[in-house]
Amino acid sequence: KEKILEVKNLKKYFDMGKGTMLQAVNDVSFHVNKGETFGLVGESGCGKSTIGRTILGLYNKTAGDVIFDNENVHALSEKERFQFYRRMQMIFQDPYASLNPRSTVREVISEPMEVHGLYKNKKAQLERVYQLLEEVGLNRDHANRYPHEFSGGQRQRIGIARALALNPDFIIADEPISALDVSVQAQVVNLLKELQLEKGLTFLFIAHDLSMVKQFSDRIGVMYLGNMVELTESNQLYEKPLHPYTQALLSAIPIPDPDIEEKRERIILEGELPSPTNPPSGCVFRTRCPAAMEVCSQVKPVWQEIEQEHFVACHLYDETIDHKKSIKVKPE
Ligand code: SF4
Ligand code: MG
Repeated sequence: KEKILEVKNLKKYFDMGKGTMLQAVNDVSFHVNKGETFGLVGESGCGKSTIGRTILGLYNKTAGDVIFDNENVHALSEKERFQFYRRMQMIFQDPYASLNPRSTVREVISEPMEVHGLYKNKKAQLERVYQLLEEVGLNRDHANRYPHEFSGGQRQRIGIARALALNPDFIIADEPISALDVSVQAQVVNLLKELQLEKGLTFLFIAHDLSMVKQFSDRIGVMYLGNMVELTESNQLYEKPLHPYTQALLSAIPIPDPDIEEKRERIILEGELPSPTNPPSGCVFRTRCPAAMEVCSQVKPVWQEIEQEHFVACHLYDETIDHKKSIKVKPE
């Protein structure tokens, strides 16, 4: 497998003034293989979107590195960054907000091509717009209409067509289906899958819900409060989740079979999500973790590979700790 993106010990803090630092992303490392979908999951405010934006260079990093195809994204010159955007594009959660309501669909999709001077010939550019519309399941008659005339799912298709306009090979999809009706979500996911196969695209797929990334992702990283807590292949994560937070997230996904659903144990997380301006000492999850031990408040668990390609940050899997001796504490 060939790595196309490497995120190494990435940190992104925001200075909120008055000595307050918001630790949006704290020492996160992962890579994405060429042609795969990497799912990045966690509840809102966990830092997933910040990672997406920092990868694109829309935010400066606080520390760490983002390497795309052997190039350090944060060391690119302005001109190089401009070229880099031809290869990496983003799809947003709310397609309506990301599309200019006063522009026609044709203008929305043409804009990136114009900015990058892709076509000297207007007619060729328009043909490309038509082609893109067809690729995302719309048609050329839609070109002169306005985004507000379309349904949420169709608007997301327009957003996808725009993201494809420069023929990128990597797409960061930031909650692209979260705002859509459940019935439409599968259609958009299927479209993304088709496009991925056709064009050999690589996706970083950001979602707040594990059920949304389940069928689509090859590997998944789970985030909590700016930290990555578990990372492994999709099947492995569902069959053998190691981190108590992943286990809780999985237990919250409804199972369609009522017999299983009834007997199933739900892990309900107590307490509130702490503020990223004042994260708990030791393990960030300890204030809500049903398995928290004394050591968890004192020592930050290290990110380690427990099995091949299965990473977790949790003291339960740290063999240097004597778990019998550690006292169970009730989550605060
Ligand atoms: Fe829970 Fe401790 Fe593991 Fe954190 S390190 S997830 S608090 S058991
Ligand atoms: Mg977000």
